[in-house]
Amino acid sequence: MSTLTAPPPISTENEKNPWLAAEARFDEAAMRLRLDDGLRKVLRSPAREITVNIPVQLDDGRLEVFTGYRVQHSIARGPAKGGIRFAPDVTLDEVRALASWMTWKCAVVNIPFGGGKGGVICDPNLLSDAELEKLTRRYAAEIIDFIGPERDVPAPDVNTNEKVMAWIMDTYSMHARHTVTAVVTGKPLSLGGSRGRLEATGRGCMMVTLKALDRFHLTPETCRVVIQGYGNVGGMAARLMAAKGFRIIGVIEFDGAVYNPRGIDIPALAAHRKETGSIAGFSGGEDMDREEAMFLECDVLLPAATENVITSANAARLRCQILCEGANGPTTPLADEILAEKRIFVIPDILANAGGVTVSYFEWVQDRQGFFWNERLVNQRLEEIMHESFDAVVQYAQTHNVNNRIAAYMLALDRVAFAIKLRGIYA
Ligand code: GLU
Repeated sequence: MSTLTAPPPISTENEKNPWLAAEARFDEAAMRLRLDDGLRKVLRSPAREITVNIPVQLDDGRLEVFTGYRVQHSIARGPAKGGIRFAPDVTLDEVRALASWMTWKCAVVNIPFGGGKGGVICDPNLLSDAELEKLTRRYAAEIIDFIGPERDVPAPDVNTNEKVMAWIMDTYSMHARHTVTAVVTGKPLSLGGSRGRLEATGRGCMMVTLKALDRFHLTPETCRVVIQGYGNVGGMAARLMAAKGFRIIGVIEFDGAVYNPRGIDIPALAAHRKETGSIAGFSGGEDMDREEAMFLECDVLLPAATENVITSANAARLRCQILCEGANGPTTPLADEILAEKRIFVIPDILANAGGVTVSYFEWVQDRQGFFWNERLVNQRLEEIMHESFDAVVQYAQTHNVNNRIAAYMLALDRVAFAIKLRGIYA
């Protein structure tokens, strides 16, 4: 019997547990789809959860052991797919939730992957480059039997990047005795990476935001945006959206927040951060309290950092018309109810940030074909997929009279359940 029993109801006590949040959305979508109990059990249980303890010799000679996970939630529609994060607060519940979100995300954009996620409990800021490389390679070696172009294809996530992907690709290839570029995505361009991959998540957020603007009779020029998180997703979204004419009035990062009602000069902010190491003290805007900046009046709020920034404690204070979830799981289920009452148009994470994994799919295809596309083609195909997926989710929401998040889950569950039914259960 599965050890994953029905989850407890969501309360203010447990709303920040990402696995419970994922389960709550899953349950609602499954109930509305009238999925039978057996299929629900299959879809809610991660197919495989791997825990590894990773010994690393630190630069000062000490031996340290780090714990890492790789969860493969589903391989029903193709190889597991999803990033690896390095962070001190990684938990198995979090990785599990993120893996299931990858299954639903890949199904929403209809690419032939299942879902997976990895995480290592560590603080990469406290590790030297050499230590980080040893940790990455040994983690890759520990999970090597479970990953591969046909099995499970990792990618970057919080605190990992193309350098980390290159190390994983090399470690895997050394064991395979030949170069296997398609084992990871988000690699450097010169090692089989795809053009446009680095920008893809932020670009996808912009593409779906542009679709949503039509519904509010807004144009980029009349649209005020606040971005929370200035890393790969938020930083790229800021750059691309500013170039498109959006007025970015607020940027919030872990070390400060900047506000300028006339619009922040994003290239100048990037230069300031490069020079000083922080967005604080930027002369092209006012410094602001980070928490308060989330509640600035704006048209689009784009959370692009980590989970649980919008909760039952603060959702009522949001003053945006559109919430575009660049991060995974930024909104708790209790906050969803408040957003619905406030009639905020939510572009849910499994749709909004799917641009990254979509271009990862393009990278995997290009690696396997050994034939590489130009950036125009990558972006054009990305746009087709983001637009079609946005329309499909909004249509589903209308047809079934549910919010966009539940619509996205229903669409995804339906596709994954269909694949499982067609394949049947191997015994
Ligand atoms: N980590 C990204 C995500 O959460 C990308 C995953 C991928 O490209 O496989 O969607």
